[in-house]
Amino acid sequence: TAVIELAGVTKTYPGGVTAVRSVDLTVEYGELVAIVGPSGSGKSTMLHLIGTLDRPTQGSVRIDGHDVATLSDRQLSALRAGRIGFVFQQFHLAPGRTAIANVADGLLYSGVRRKEREWRAEAALVRVGLGERLGHRPHQLSGGERQRVAIARAVAGDPAVLLADEPTGNLDSVAGAGVVALLRELHEAGTTVLVITHDHEIAGSLPRQVPMRDGRVI
Ligand code: ADP
Ligand code: ADP
Repeated sequence: TAVIELAGVTKTYPGGVTAVRSVDLTVEYGELVAIVGPSGSGKSTMLHLIGTLDRPTQGSVRIDGHDVATLSDRQLSALRAGRIGFVFQQFHLAPGRTAIANVADGLLYSGVRRKEREWRAEAALVRVGLGERLGHRPHQLSGGERQRVAIARAVAGDPAVLLADEPTGNLDSVAGAGVVALLRELHEAGTTVLVITHDHEIAGSLPRQVPMRDGRVI
């Protein structure tokens, strides 16, 4: 079954720019997919729609079995917090906090108790290869390691889908390749992963590409 189902989705911003036009997209549980296209092609808007950060102007968006149109903003926040993991180009880690604290903080609103947040955070960091870096703060980590912490935070709550927006955009090519390899490992272990990238080489290395141009899937 599908974790992401977009049908006839159009997004027009106030002011009149139509960033996404009549898009149909189905992603099954367990897939690893790249949305690829040049700057301005509508990728970020797609991420906002799929991440339920924004609602379509037309068409329907279903995420993990929920029709976004039927949910209140509060219900959408809960869906996001519980079922969607986000990773960004800028790692968005809290600077003074250790790796384990950064990951555990991502579970603050999960209803899980502190001890369990900690062991889940540790398990997630072990999964991304940072089992030896639990007490390190972001400034003590390399760019690639920081992005791994961000990925650990995104997967610690066992989301239905991991959304990665230009996850290698701030990394050199070696660290970037490591992050792509990690996303592939997570996929092989069963996580659904959607990567947004303008990099055709990265997209081409993944099992499925969704090419975009001028707001359309081509
Ligand atoms: P990409 O991520 O591929 O660069 P975007 O989704 O950011 O594409 O942008 C697609 C189009 O929508 C562009 O023309 C952009 O200027 C416009 N756009 C994006 N976000 C907004 C916004 N919040 N308000 C108005 N226009 C926007
Ligand atoms: P706080 O003081 O708000 O609890 P901390 O940054 O001290 O924030 O830590 C957040 C959580 O992560 C705490 O529950 C702490 O026990 C745990 N933690 C922090 N650093 C480590 C570490 N190096 N090893 C194991 N657990 C840690």
